[in-house]
Amino acid sequence: MKAARYYDRGDIRVDELPEPEVLPGTVGINVAWCGICGTDLHEYLEGPIFAPGHGQTHPISGEGLPVTLGHEFSGVVYAVGEGVEDLEVGQHVVVEPYIIRDDVDTGPDSRDYHLSPDMNFIGLAGRGGGLGEKVVVQRRWVHPIDNSVPLDQAALIEPLSVGYHAVERSGAKAGDVALVGGAGPIGLLTAAVLKAQGVTVAISELSPLRREKALEAGVADYALDPSQVDVAEEVRKITDGKGADVAFECSSVQAVLDTLMDALRPTGVLVVVSIWGKRSDFDIHKLVMKEIDMRGTIAYVNSHPATIELVESGKIDLSPFITGKIGLEGLVDEGFDTLINRNETAVKILVSPSGEGL
Ligand SMILES: [Zn+2]
Repeated sequence: MKAARYYDRGDIRVDELPEPEVLPGTVGINVAWCGICGTDLHEYLEGPIFAPGHGQTHPISGEGLPVTLGHEFSGVVYAVGEGVEDLEVGQHVVVEPYIIRDDVDTGPDSRDYHLSPDMNFIGLAGRGGGLGEKVVVQRRWVHPIDNSVPLDQAALIEPLSVGYHAVERSGAKAGDVALVGGAGPIGLLTAAVLKAQGVTVAISELSPLRREKALEAGVADYALDPSQVDVAEEVRKITDGKGADVAFECSSVQAVLDTLMDALRPTGVLVVVSIWGKRSDFDIHKLVMKEIDMRGTIAYVNSHPATIELVESGKIDLSPFITGKIGLEGLVDEGFDTLINRNETAVKILVSPSGEGL
């Protein structure tokens, strides 16, 4: 089978590999679609970050470079290993792509398995990936989805779960007003979850194309251009002078963080969703004087079932966020190149590793 593997910074190759073995307790999946994520771009441009370092192996997967890429994927079950009785061949699934130690409690009541030591991801630190034609995944991390959800849209359930967990962390409830800073894929999908839960959403974004996408997809009530308007002032207009109840930092840009702090009401909640590769210069006095509650959020924890439900019920339509479909051969020249050099023109580019559906 074919798979795109990460060898090093700037070095991704499409290789011919033997098919993975379906062991007891695992599920064999024919990958239908796999999204390209900002994390993949960071590995390509600045890595290895999540991928194992040179000469090293990941402590849980035991694998080193090269590793198969792709952690945002959907597919169809082609085989189930011994002991797997609640999934069948032909079933449509998505994967919660964790690599987690066997002794960690990953049961339905766990709220912190995603924060356990050496946590990493399928498609970054070993165990195959969605940018291969087939992948074998432990039953725990495979989530069935209804056949009514198209498999291309289903590939976006992984990043949507990131938004779901971020919204959960914020404590936002119906009737609240949220400000989302940055309308990249995660900002848009976080906004989609907020809208589905009855929250009024304002998005702040410099790119006109991205603002247009947010309005067109129906995930924002207001799309504000921070180069033209005072975003905090606009948010106060929307909220009778009060300020936003919750804010989501989805850009890793200092000016955005400052704006969100200004736009929040006293006792508001600021959730930092983006990955910051640098330290922030932050006016802590504002946080103190407004009693702002600032929280981090990373990935998801037991978030997939509720996220899948939002999509199956039709409360969230993921189709507007698919802006391109390519084969494995176009991964770097078409996919990565578009997302690195013309990123405001794209939201999610999906890859079909087998070429089927293109
Ligand atoms: Zn991702």
